[in-house]
Amino acid sequence: MIETKPSLYDFSLKELMQEIQPSFRAKQIFNWMYHQYADDFDDMKNIPNALKVELSQKYIVNPLNIVNKEESTDGTIKYLLQMQDGKTMEAVWLKMKDAQTDENGEVFQEAKYTICVSTQVGCKVGCTFCLTAKGGFTRNLTAGEIVAQVVTLKKDNNHKRNRKINIVYMGMGEPLDNLTNLAKAIEVFKEDEGLCIGAKRQTVSTSGLSNKIDKLGEMDLGVHIAISLHAVDDELRTELIPMNKAHNISSIIEAVKRFPIDTRKRVMFEYLVIKNKNDDISSAKKLVKLLCDIKAKVNLIYFNPYPGTPYDRPTKSDMLAFQEYLINHGLLCTIRDSKGIDISAACGQLKEKVEGEI
Ligand code: SAH
Ligand code: SF4
Repeated sequence: MIETKPSLYDFSLKELMQEIQPSFRAKQIFNWMYHQYADDFDDMKNIPNALKVELSQKYIVNPLNIVNKEESTDGTIKYLLQMQDGKTMEAVWLKMKDAQTDENGEVFQEAKYTICVSTQVGCKVGCTFCLTAKGGFTRNLTAGEIVAQVVTLKKDNNHKRNRKINIVYMGMGEPLDNLTNLAKAIEVFKEDEGLCIGAKRQTVSTSGLSNKIDKLGEMDLGVHIAISLHAVDDELRTELIPMNKAHNISSIIEAVKRFPIDTRKRVMFEYLVIKNKNDDISSAKKLVKLLCDIKAKVNLIYFNPYPGTPYDRPTKSDMLAFQEYLINHGLLCTIRDSKGIDISAACGQLKEKVEGEI
């Protein structure tokens, strides 16, 4: 058995002040973690040695190591991160907008980034199009392992604490299947003395566990949700996402209607487009009907193929026709540009490539 220690990233500042005495030391340590991105007690210059030795027997600071990194030409960087027990998972650094410069080449608006984080090693949901599902479920990530992904990627990209960043829980795993640790991580991200990432900058993507959507709503954390819908009838959705049998389309739609959202915002529905499966106009028609009384926006995603998959990527013209139909019928609809397509950036694909596990 490998010995693992709790990470300091598991704790809110208040909790850390209970763990570490005197409490002003906890504040200093919190500052080292979130302002300086210190990975280790050794890096914390103003903390007495005796306290560092005592703490390092009980805790680890950053529980993650970067074991592989692939950079795409579009600025996307995909990380394979290893945890204390040797297990690995992925996090992705996404460049959403280039820096804006004026005529003198001075930057007047910095580039915008989003970090895509994992919540589990593997996944129980078992979607037939998803590589993460192939290896089955290994374990939940701790809150600290979720938080440390953002710290690690910000540090690696020299992205200072006060620069804004968005988080999407769209990496490996089903976030709502690890709700306690997810909720803790969301709260730790919000901490004023920490990374100060507001709930509105955090989006939880779910395959649609409708009872857990309700639970997340009841927690009233203020986060956005994105629903991985992918199909408009239960037969196809169950083929793609087997747990649709227990949480069918209408139960998801009802749960979304109950979910507390900012009245100015819309709920995102992700629709993975697979050639000859769900890329026809009659599906688009049904989608419009399904979402007619929800403040929704749709994000169409090209299926990203990998060796051994039975599914194919749709053609660009079918994708555009699908989008056009939705827009003409009053739905907001974007096509997710295939960020990092040259580095196998769909969920689970770097892990597969590096470890050849599955
Ligand atoms: N479990 C959550 C979040 C992680 S998956 C969920 O399912 O929503 C994040 C997104 O990646 C989902 O929308 C999922 O449908 C998508 N995805 C999985 N495999 C894919 C593939 N091969 N190509 C494109 N998108 C994929
Ligand atoms: Fe799990 Fe999401 Fe992959 Fe489905 S798409 S298996 S829910 S990670």
